[in-house]
Amino acid sequence: MSPFNPARRSTRSGRITIALYRISQAIYYLFRDRGKTRRLSPAQIQALLFLRYVRPGVRTIGGLAERLGVSYATASDVVDALERKEMVTRSVVPEDLRTVMLTLSTAGEREVTLLDDILDEIELEIASLPDADQEALLRATRSIIRRLQERGYVKVYEMCWGCQFFQQNVHPDDPRGPHHCAYMDAPLAEPHTYLECPDHVPSEETEPGRG
Ligand code: SF4
Repeated sequence: MSPFNPARRSTRSGRITIALYRISQAIYYLFRDRGKTRRLSPAQIQALLFLRYVRPGVRTIGGLAERLGVSYATASDVVDALERKEMVTRSVVPEDLRTVMLTLSTAGEREVTLLDDILDEIELEIASLPDADQEALLRATRSIIRRLQERGYVKVYEMCWGCQFFQQNVHPDDPRGPHHCAYMDAPLAEPHTYLECPDHVPSEETEPGRG
């Protein structure tokens, strides 16, 4: 049944599996190619994008290790390299001296703006498909990702809007933020609701494609 064996790639599911594998190879190529230009490894690129778009509480070595799917020591090595390039700084949280917070420097922020379009070519190819194909692809990939997520093979990071823990505008006069996260039992400032969160759980009425 192995779809790697072309002689046995006779089922539709096998051909689709190989197609997804090839797309993942193309994405990895785009990361490596951009990395050559910017003198960054694919892991360093992912770390910079992570620090730009994840919610503040997760910008730690542990958070990065989880995002990259690597050990704490490996994530720390990635941060060391970015520190030497003066793109990231570390700081210790006064309330928890074991937690190292990571922050993008000005140079790191500038670098991320040059990395933001890495997947544009993939998106352009998808956008050129007929609407019905895009709808079907969206529905199918969403369903596959959800099952892979349930088995722990992939972690989905999404923003607050559409999360079942998100409570919109429940304390409008709170200076810390008008919204609330029931998962962390903490207020949310408006800008933070548009950042990625590893604890996101899609609400029932979340639009297809999210979660
Ligand atoms: S758990 Fe949900 S509501 Fe809370 S921060 Fe994460 S995405 Fe936002």
